[in-house]
Amino acid sequence: MNPLQKIAIISCRQAAVLGAKASFNALSLVEKMKLRMHAKMCTTCRDYQKDSALIDQAIDKIIRQKEQQGHTLSPTQRDKILEALR
Ligand SMILES: [Zn+2]
Repeated sequence: MNPLQKIAIISCRQAAVLGAKASFNALSLVEKMKLRMHAKMCTTCRDYQKDSALIDQAIDKIIRQKEQQGHTLSPTQRDKILEALR
């Protein structure tokens, strides 16, 4: 295995982390390359990425629909959620 291949090969766990990071458009060029190479070799992670993208799209759609219906969080509700995430 050449050094480039060694650097590019990542575990499924690392691919899952990069996949989550990708949903926030926060991947570097090298991370994108590692994730793409892994997905080409690993059917499980490729399927996981597709399913995650579908779930993200569904959540985004629901959020847009709720916002259009005037459903928004109050500042107190937002603060409670932010506090729970810390
Ligand atoms: Zn994998």
